[in-house]
Amino acid sequence: MEPAELLPLYEWAAGTCFRHPGLGQVETAHLKTLHPRTGEELDIRGCRECVMTLEAQRERAAVRSGSVYEPGHLGCSP
Ligand SMILES: [Zn+2]
Repeated sequence: MEPAELLPLYEWAAGTCFRHPGLGQVETAHLKTLHPRTGEELDIRGCRECVMTLEAQRERAAVRSGSVYEPGHLGCSP
C-alpha cells in the first residue's frame, strides 16, 4: 500500500507517537486504548511512519496466513 492510499484511512490529530515520544506533538492516528486496572485510560497513538510500518506487518501476516489483508484496521485488531 502507498502512503497516499493508506493514510487517509485514519483520522489524524496532534498527539505523541508511542514509538517516537521524542518527536513531541506530531500528526498521529489512534491505534489502541489501554485500560489499566488502576489509573486512567491511555490512548496509544502512532505517527505516519509507525502506521505505515504496522500496516506493512499486518499485510505480511495476512499473506503468510492466507487471509485477506484489509488496511485501515489497526485500531480494531485485538
Ligand atoms: Zn512513530
